[in-house]
Amino acid sequence: MTIDLADVAQKQGIKYFLISYTDLFGNQRAKLVPAVAIGGMQKNGAGFAGFATWLDMSPADPDLFARPDPESLIQLPWKPEVGWLAADLWMNGAPVEASPRNALKSQIARAAERGLQMKTGVECEFFLITPDGSGVADTADTQAKPCYDQQALMRHYDVITEICDAMLALGWKPYQNDHEDANGQFEMNWEYDDALVTADRHAFFKYMAKSIAEKHGLRATFMPKPFVHLTGNGCHMHVSIWKGGENVFVGENGGLSPLGLKFIGGVIHSADALAAITNPTVNSYKRINAPRTLSGATWAPNSVTWTGNNRTHMIRVPEGDRFELRLADGAANPYLMAAATLAAGLDGIENERDPGPHLDINMYTEGHSVRDVKKLPLNMLDALRALEGSDVLKDAFGMLVPAYLRLKHGEWNDYARHLTQWERDTTLDC
Ligand code: ADP
Ligand code: MG
Ligand code: MG
Ligand code: MG
Ligand code: MG
Repeated sequence: MTIDLADVAQKQGIKYFLISYTDLFGNQRAKLVPAVAIGGMQKNGAGFAGFATWLDMSPADPDLFARPDPESLIQLPWKPEVGWLAADLWMNGAPVEASPRNALKSQIARAAERGLQMKTGVECEFFLITPDGSGVADTADTQAKPCYDQQALMRHYDVITEICDAMLALGWKPYQNDHEDANGQFEMNWEYDDALVTADRHAFFKYMAKSIAEKHGLRATFMPKPFVHLTGNGCHMHVSIWKGGENVFVGENGGLSPLGLKFIGGVIHSADALAAITNPTVNSYKRINAPRTLSGATWAPNSVTWTGNNRTHMIRVPEGDRFELRLADGAANPYLMAAATLAAGLDGIENERDPGPHLDINMYTEGHSVRDVKKLPLNMLDALRALEGSDVLKDAFGMLVPAYLRLKHGEWNDYARHLTQWERDTTLDC
């Protein structure tokens, strides 16, 4: 039975709906629609000029329609008269292939053809900074090793618990909040779920954390590396695959099953191209491959390797029921990162990809001792070129990859036109 949003509005006291979609760069775009108008919008979608957002469209294109998914409805905990809805993009009566939520749905459908379902949990690290973005909001938060700092965590009690209370009320099953490894950095964890549910929650979490921080006179940033000497914002994703209600990653002797190993074999095979999605900005490459931070470690990977319960590799298998992809950062598009990981993993299953050796070493200090280890892209251009060469991701995503590449190359070219202080410092006297 389809949910009638006009009914829901009446029953739940919703005055406005925020019909929201996430564009290729991860930005959320929305129309605020009064409840009286939701009937037509639910059927036909809210109209947008696609070119005006980060989608590879032309100003001459017809209207883009964002059709809300009623299952995704979330009443804003800090303003319950507004109902947020994740939307799917349509144009000329067909779904837009080069759009993130549709891309995830199509990979989910591809997995379902094999009877498989992906479940994910994400860890969205963020900083609480001053509204002008110049520094960490809490000027007393200066310890060199600030992880789990009780005093600094509790100084932000009001904002952290407002976000956690919201997640409790929404039924997300949050279970812990902490101060992370950088000054001013926090992480709030809620329970994993179906990949589309988690992607919608991930998108909403970013909106919620920013909104509640603003309410408290602060600013929340998910930027991958906002401060060069501090640990950056990761967005680790924990992944398991289920069949008929059973987690089929669970193998014997506490390790991953053969299917799980092939899946991570696929992720390792496509890792450099995947980085163009999971690490989508110029700034992303200041977090991976980074030198040591003030705390002693970056906690971000620098090479394409996997391990057990060890946080120095790209893939960690903490228990034999899932793996953790430590590659993605706070700029990653919630939908595309899940979609690309699933596409890479399905390729691993289909082509029986071997993940290579299980490395049980400290990759930061002993990485040089392993031969033939693939390195991660060194910058965004490197990653975009890897994506260009990835048949796995191009075949999985059709029109999306060329669209994404066109926009991202534009961004790279824009960046390359900037003259930096570093260049002047090192080259003025050449
Ligand atoms: P850590 O910091 O050790 O990497 P966290 O507790 O911060 O771990 O986050 C773990 C995430 O993994 C949570 O979202 C959790 O619900 C999720 N998770 C746990 N088990 C599974 C599983 N089988 N499949 C997918 N995600 C899982
Ligand atoms: Mg207009
Ligand atoms: Mg964590
Ligand atoms: Mg963390
Ligand atoms: Mg983690």
